[in-house]
Amino acid sequence: MVQRQTPTDGKLLLNEPLARYTSWRVGGKADRLYIPAGLQDLQNFLHSLDDNEAVHFIGLGSNLLVRDGGVRGTVVLMHNVLTDLHMNGGLVYAEAGVTCAKLAKFAARQHRHGVEFMAGIPGTVGGALAMNAGCHGAETWDAVATVMTIDRQGALHQRNKAEFVTGYRHVEMAEISSEAGNKKLDEWFVAAWFTLPDGAASESEQKIKSLLAMRLATQPLNWPNAGSVFRNPPGGYAARLIEACGLKGYQIGGAQVSEKHANFIVNLGNATASDIEQLIAHMR
Ligand SMILES: Cc1cc2nc3c(=O)[nH]c(=O)nc-3n(C[C@H](O)[C@H](O)[C@H](O)COP(=O)(O)OP(=O)(O)OC[C@H]3O[C@@H](n4cnc5c(N)ncnc54)[C@H](O)[C@@H]3O)c2cc1C
Repeated sequence: MVQRQTPTDGKLLLNEPLARYTSWRVGGKADRLYIPAGLQDLQNFLHSLDDNEAVHFIGLGSNLLVRDGGVRGTVVLMHNVLTDLHMNGGLVYAEAGVTCAKLAKFAARQHRHGVEFMAGIPGTVGGALAMNAGCHGAETWDAVATVMTIDRQGALHQRNKAEFVTGYRHVEMAEISSEAGNKKLDEWFVAAWFTLPDGAASESEQKIKSLLAMRLATQPLNWPNAGSVFRNPPGGYAARLIEACGLKGYQIGGAQVSEKHANFIVNLGNATASDIEQLIAHMR
């Protein structure tokens, strides 16, 4: 990795095992893992990287299967890094490292409705924006007004919702025209402003409570997992299809189709990423 001469204050870890940073607790090492000291430091760090360096952002790693061979290039960890969360001109402003649970509870306390569903999603705001995380008919981008992104050079951009194409667990930047023709931008999320209607805090808090209780009752939260593995088909449920195939409890190595929720794969303790990948292929 060639670095330009820009001072950085974050933590750079070499050959860092990514299993520590993913909810499945599997996966090989990252060549480099960078934990920024803040937004300015993240800007400096990205600016310092060689143009050819592969860069990957992660939040809480709750939707990531890192292969056993690990990740080449630099992984930037956002969880617990950019954590500002406040009201801003009637909107909820949340930085990318804030957990979805914190955002949901904060919004409720501010008498704002609409992101209660995020309370049970064990990810960061950055990951939720990247995945358009959602459940019970609600999705992250329903509530987004504007986002702030950072590019490869470390420059920040404020972008409107209209600059993104979003769908079911799908987000991409709309193609932009440039002198070089149409191209996709290489940017990551650093913050978002959420526009949420007024509502009673007690109502939101009650909704959060019952959503969390429902998850506890239906999801295998006592084993490392990454939530639902397959997207639902239109009008149906992946879990029902998997269960109908008799796959509940099916195991490859240390990876098992959960007995409690057929669309979850749990790590029974000694799973490798390869076990999980093979199980996914088998289920498919
Ligand atoms: C028990 C459990 C329940 C779950 N329930 C749900 C659910 O109900 N609904 C749902 O949608 N998901 C669910 N998930 C999956 C997961 O929590 C979400 O997809 C979540 O949004 C991932 O956030 P993260 O911060 O962990 O992202 P990560 O897993 O770290 O990353 C996911 C993707 O987002 C990218 N990314 C992360 N941060 C950024 C950033 N700042 N800028 C750009 N890209 C970024 C990563 O590169 C990666 O491609 C569940 C997972 C678990 C373990």
